[in-house]
Amino acid sequence: MDLPARGSCQCGNVTYEVTEEPFYTAVCHCLDCQKLSASSFSVTMLLRRSGFELLSGELKRWERPTASGGIAVCWFCPDCGNRIYHENPKAPDIVRLKPGTLDDPSVLQPQVRGWMCRQQPWLEQYSELPSVDRQIDHLKAIAEVEQGKRPF
Ligand SMILES: [Zn+2]
Ligand SMILES: [Zn+2]
Repeated sequence: MDLPARGSCQCGNVTYEVTEEPFYTAVCHCLDCQKLSASSFSVTMLLRRSGFELLSGELKRWERPTASGGIAVCWFCPDCGNRIYHENPKAPDIVRLKPGTLDDPSVLQPQVRGWMCRQQPWLEQYSELPSVDRQIDHLKAIAEVEQGKRPF
């Protein structure tokens, strides 16, 4: 990964920089990560706090209990709601960055997957789904569904 790597929240008010090589990147399929991402998993890049620098904006804090009896401290942009990172009060030196917020998320190379017992079954056939290179034309597809056709 080229350093420093910049990132931001979706509205751009919060910007940050990663200045040190992360430990690794993990995918998590737990139900909390599905809620968090409003999707079916989340990605986390673990790095030392000294390698993370907030460049602009302010983060708001929210806490939740974890399955292991600890606390996850979650930091997010109060304007757009985008989650930026988590931390564990028992390991305050580690930042758990939500690296989909990196300006160039193509640098991500997850090395491990967790909570596979919660993985959504459709992900196993994910690469076999019909696909288009750019935005799906939902209005056209819905019109076809309404006509009794199968757009995909
Ligand atoms: Zn924002
Ligand atoms: Zn999770």
